[in-house]
Amino acid sequence: MTHEALRELLPAYALDALTAEEAREVRAHLETCDRCPGELALLQETATRLAGAPVQVPPPPQLREQILAAVRPQPSVVTIPRGWAIGLAAAAAAVIVVAALTAARFGQQVAQLQQRIAAQEQVLAILAGPTAQTSVLAGSIEAGVKFVYDRTRGQGALVVTDLQDPGRQSVYQLWLVAGAVPESAGVFRPAPGRPLVIPVRADFTRYQAVAISIERAPFGAAQPTTTPILVGRI
Ligand SMILES: [Zn+2]
Repeated sequence: MTHEALRELLPAYALDALTAEEAREVRAHLETCDRCPGELALLQETATRLAGAPVQVPPPPQLREQILAAVRPQPSVVTIPRGWAIGLAAAAAAVIVVAALTAARFGQQVAQLQQRIAAQEQVLAILAGPTAQTSVLAGSIEAGVKFVYDRTRGQGALVVTDLQDPGRQSVYQLWLVAGAVPESAGVFRPAPGRPLVIPVRADFTRYQAVAISIERAPFGAAQPTTTPILVGRI
């Protein structure tokens, strides 16, 4: 699973609500990720406050009113003991934090999904055109990488269905090759478990090939510094 996918599991992990297998995957990811441990610490602190707050002690009927009363800074409304009021306010705040985090994640996921769909629709539009062409990239590694393009419309896209992770220090860089001169068309990392579509707009009549090399993360290079691992004629 990717960092994004595993990050989605962190709130549930903090609340101990994952299956044993999911929890194992999260633990394995935490060892290698430099962002998730910090986020988890924050969530665990929240979860601990949730669990430690005296919310679980009284039975529910008046609880909602008590939490609302505790959150509103109106002394006349807060009739529960002061220590409790603080505990309930912390619990209510924790619930709000978790809800806000979840909503933010969901919004991000929707935006990412929309981007992916838009990119895939673009590929379909290219392929549906009568002048569409496809070039399968081949080279020194086993991979599922195609370049679909339409010379007359100047639209193309790299479609990556199978490509190993280049490692944390590296990215893949796409090149459009005119004669012997490679021009960068951007860098990318494969997305494990799902296809990656990278739209490319260019005057494809100028180029004879597309190539992919491994370059330094995160920005790649101005010119290839390694031999391309995959090449396709266009
Ligand atoms: Zn991560």
